[in-house]
Amino acid sequence: MQCPYCTGDSSVTETRVTADGLRRRRMCAVCKRRFTTYEKLGAPGLKVQKRDGSLEPFDGDKLFHALERISAHRDGVRPEDLRRIARDIEATLVDGGRKSVAWSDIVAAALSRLENVDPISAHRLAANYTDESGAVRLDGTSAPQPVQQLGLPLDEE
Ligand SMILES: [Zn+2]
Repeated sequence: MQCPYCTGDSSVTETRVTADGLRRRRMCAVCKRRFTTYEKLGAPGLKVQKRDGSLEPFDGDKLFHALERISAHRDGVRPEDLRRIARDIEATLVDGGRKSVAWSDIVAAALSRLENVDPISAHRLAANYTDESGAVRLDGTSAPQPVQQLGLPLDEE
């Protein structure tokens, strides 16, 4: 990315996940000035593998809304927490450089993060995930992994 001051080349010194996407701190290689850029996450090319084996583009909003339904009527669960969980999962998948990911892996990742925010909602997610008659449609192939094996710290602002 071009430096806004001298149009020299810049390099990324830090990347953080925010509610809206990625915030990157950059430093110009020429004039050494620092600046910050913001990128909305898009997960280009990342596909989700559904139970029937078909692939569909990863949709962070879809994940967010699934979490919203899971946490409906739960006091203390803020939309920004759920948004952050969805973004964090998306960022992790994108950084991992994977071309496709199974729904079950996404659910497991969501479970481990939701556990930190609201264990009741996490249990509800697990129940919905294993019960196909549940209100939330999640296409998975296996039971969720144990939460403690997948616990990743949420990015604190
Ligand atoms: Zn510069």
